[in-house]
Formats: sequence, C-alpha cells, structure tokens
Amino acid sequence: VDGSVTGSGRVLLAAPRGYCAGVDRAVVAVEKALERYGSPVYVRKQIVHNVHVVKRLEEQGAVFVDEVDEVPTGSHVVFSAHGVAPAVVRAAADRGLQAIDATCPLVTKVHREAVRFARDDRHILLIGHHGHEEVEGTMGEAPERTTLVGSPEEADTVEVADPDNLVWLSQTTLSVDETMETVRRLRTRFPNLADPPSDDICYATQNRQVAVKKIARDADVVLVVGSANSSNSVRLVEVALDGGARASYRIDDASELDPAWLEGASTVGVTSGASVPERLVRDLLAVLAEHGYGTVEEVRTAEEDLVFSLPRELRRDASGNR
Ligand code: SF4
Repeated sequence: VDGSVTGSGRVLLAAPRGYCAGVDRAVVAVEKALERYGSPVYVRKQIVHNVHVVKRLEEQGAVFVDEVDEVPTGSHVVFSAHGVAPAVVRAAADRGLQAIDATCPLVTKVHREAVRFARDDRHILLIGHHGHEEVEGTMGEAPERTTLVGSPEEADTVEVADPDNLVWLSQTTLSVDETMETVRRLRTRFPNLADPPSDDICYATQNRQVAVKKIARDADVVLVVGSANSSNSVRLVEVALDGGARASYRIDDASELDPAWLEGASTVGVTSGASVPERLVRDLLAVLAEHGYGTVEEVRTAEEDLVFSLPRELRRDASGNR
C-alpha cells in the first residue's frame, strides 16, 4: 500500500482488519434478499454494528426495526449476524413472517453449546456484555440455566445455586486477555468450573486483536475505525492501549479524526473492526496522508480465507425449490 503524499510520518496498518466472514455473509444476505424480493426487506436490529453499513442498506431499501412485531405480516425479515433467542424465531413464525437467518455460524455454535449444556443439566456462566444483542440471543436458549458474567470484577461476586455443576461460555467478540482473567477469577471461586470444548471468541476477533497488539508496540497513537456499539471494535482500542500505544481512539470514519491526536506522533497505527467496510479505512489513510503520514506499512499477523455460505433460506430459493 502506498500513500499518495510523502511525509515524515508513518502509518502501520494492521492486517487482518475489517470485514469478517460472518459480517460479509450477513450484509450480502440483505442485499440478495433485496434483489430477490424487492424493497422493503425488514431487518431486525442492525444487521451488523456499523452505522455506515446500515445507512447504505437503508438507501437500498432495507428497513431496520427493533422487534418483529413492527414487521407487516407476510413480509421478509432478516435476523442480524448477532443471533436471536428462540422466542424471536417463534414470534416471527407466529406473525407469518418469512425469516432469513443471518446469524453468524460462529454465534450459532455458541447457541448449540448452550442448548447442549442446559440439556445436560449444567449451569452456564456466560461471559459477555450486559445488554449486547448476541448475549441476549444466547441467553434466550436456556434462560433458567444461564448467568451472565459481565467483567472480571463480576466474577468475584456472581452467585450461583449449583457451584459444582458449572461450565463457561462466552460472547464471540470479547478481549481474549480479559476473558481469560474472568475465567481465572471464576475458577478460584468455583474450582470445578468446566471449560467449553473450544474457545468461543471467534477467529476474526482474535486475529484483529493479535494484529493491533503488534502495531501498538511501535505506534504512538492507534486509530480504530468502528462504531460505538461494535463490541469487537471497542475491544481493539483497549487491546491497543494494553499493548503499549500511548493513545488510542475509535472513530466511525475519517471525519471524526481530531488532528490534535496526532501532535508529536511519528507513527500512527490504523485498524478496523469486523463490521467495517475497507473504504472507510482507505478514506482515513487519505486524510492521514494529508497530515503528513504518507508512508503506509501493512503489518500482517494472519491470513484469513474463511467464507460462509449464504443463509439457507436464500440458498433454497436460489435453487428454485421453494
Ligand atoms: Fe462471526 Fe466473529 Fe464476525 Fe461476529 S465477529 S460475525 S462471530 S466471524
């Protein structure tokens, strides 16, 4: 990658960054649904947590709603990448909606684990953020058997009825280090706490954290492109600070860059969350070049080639077997 203006400042561009396989699939699902069924296609909640993506889909005819009871009977409704509780699926069916489930397969995997552990009469400690849509969906699989642990501090105080029968699961977009700390603290209180068969923090979250950590070591300031409600984007700011950056800021796009942040900085790190289109990063690099940060060095810590197939409702319609 070459900056168009040469300045004394340097940009370290983290890779991987931006779109993950689950986000790509969810966005394409809405576009395909619009192509196939025409506007409006309803989407429950933001399809992915990015204001620019949502705005663009709105312009194409998607209508975002909070709950399925806002969707006219018989319409198509897409469930977001963050997943939904079984009660939402039932509510959509009761209204006669044509649901297209764009839940990321890696979130679905966590739902399946929750169902299985609940069936085995285990109690689940779900590590995740209060109020996040993914957590609400996962908890909805076994509400009676799940307790949310929101932070390492909450691990010190959470109360459970059956302390010897616990297993932990997690939201897919947490900080790896903080989650391990939460598990460690839980285990000091509940020594018989069982681990899930595999980590629930997804590959994209982990890869983006490893990459930002690497550039944070050499960057004075790290800019993270992503929306405020994007869990994985907000985590990237925290990981950059933990990783040695003097400062780190999350911005939705280049217009939010405050030039004062760059004062005295010779190296600026740049990355983006899993729901962020690459064009927003390109725009930021152009603005940084105008500020004298014209040399861009990409620092890659992993290759990603995962692609998920479209939600089955769209595949089924595509094959003509309706
Ligand atoms: Fe799926 Fe991870 Fe992307 Fe979330 S961040 S949509 S879990 S791949």
